[in-house]
Amino acid sequence: MKWKFTAAEKSAVKYVVCNADEGEPGTFKDRVILTEYPKMLMEGMAIAGYAVGATEGILYVRYEYKYLQEYLEKIIEGGRKKNYLGKNICGKEGFDFDIRIQFGAGSYVCGEESALIESAEGKRGEPRDRPPFPVESGYLEKPTIVNNVETLCSIVKIVNHGAPWYRSMGTKESSGTKVLSICGDCKYPGVYEIEWGFSVNDVIEMVGANEVQAVQVGGPSGNLVGPNEFNRTLSYTDLSTGGSIIIFNKQRDLIKDVVLNFMNFFIDESCGSCSTCRNIPVLLRQKLEKILNARGVQKDIEEMLEWSKVLKASRCGLGLTAGNPIVTSIKNFRSLYDKKIQHGKDYDSNFDMLNAVKESCDAVGRVPGIHSN
Ligand code: SF4
Repeated sequence: MKWKFTAAEKSAVKYVVCNADEGEPGTFKDRVILTEYPKMLMEGMAIAGYAVGATEGILYVRYEYKYLQEYLEKIIEGGRKKNYLGKNICGKEGFDFDIRIQFGAGSYVCGEESALIESAEGKRGEPRDRPPFPVESGYLEKPTIVNNVETLCSIVKIVNHGAPWYRSMGTKESSGTKVLSICGDCKYPGVYEIEWGFSVNDVIEMVGANEVQAVQVGGPSGNLVGPNEFNRTLSYTDLSTGGSIIIFNKQRDLIKDVVLNFMNFFIDESCGSCSTCRNIPVLLRQKLEKILNARGVQKDIEEMLEWSKVLKASRCGLGLTAGNPIVTSIKNFRSLYDKKIQHGKDYDSNFDMLNAVKESCDAVGRVPGIHSN
């Protein structure tokens, strides 16, 4: 779709941007592809440029992969020398395409395509309002396609082997393969390429995981699934994933070690533009901490679910999905929450007078002194 719309735009200048800003916790597949298959990626970008009529490609790489810069520059230079990049590529008159590398500054939200474009233009990495979409007005207000590393590499395989070959893998609705970064409590963490349609059970078996309590499919913004859903399949129609799979065994405290951690991540990474995304995750974290401190009541769980709905008014995927760790963990691990809350009590203000006095005294440099009369 992106390619079709960009190709149809009547502009003399268009861009291909490769999104190598992989920042989803638990994802490291792009790093491996950039290291092991950089030529395939460059080829995919050039094919994309040819298809949409773009002559410039930007490889936008997360700052944490800066150590790859020299290596990637050499690959690009090698491509130019062999005329796989540059003017009249491979002797094809008018097929001009070149690539430059740009590094991000470490912000997760720059993985969102319009924030990435803002960042590539040298501005603060913050998602844009849409429309217009990048295919009409992207980098420097020119038609731009933004594809990820894996997609651009898949293009090369499809061009080489044909669409029927690619479609012969996976499921009817989710054809082809998916590259996964699998980590956590398992014997064989790493990067795997599977056909769409693998079940969570297949993945668990493949990586030698035992006593699995939960699997986070799709990073913090995805689903925390439990054993009763391990027969679900990785696909666009069931459990969709950008590639991150994290396995947790039964020794983990899911609420404290996983859900609270993910909420901290979303709070840290919000660009702060939307009031929903700026505030609701903080309130959700307060509720979580209240529950973890054994002060929670039933109503706190219900309120977390309600407040998460408000996040759906956010502008980009970060805010839209920031409530997912809480929503999916309550859905699939409700008993863990029920064990931690107070039963037979409808309300707990969670207000600690002694602590509040201490904090205010600390702030003004006074010694706390509470008098009973
Ligand atoms: S949802 Fe969050 S990250 Fe996205 S634009 Fe709004 S404040 Fe920024």
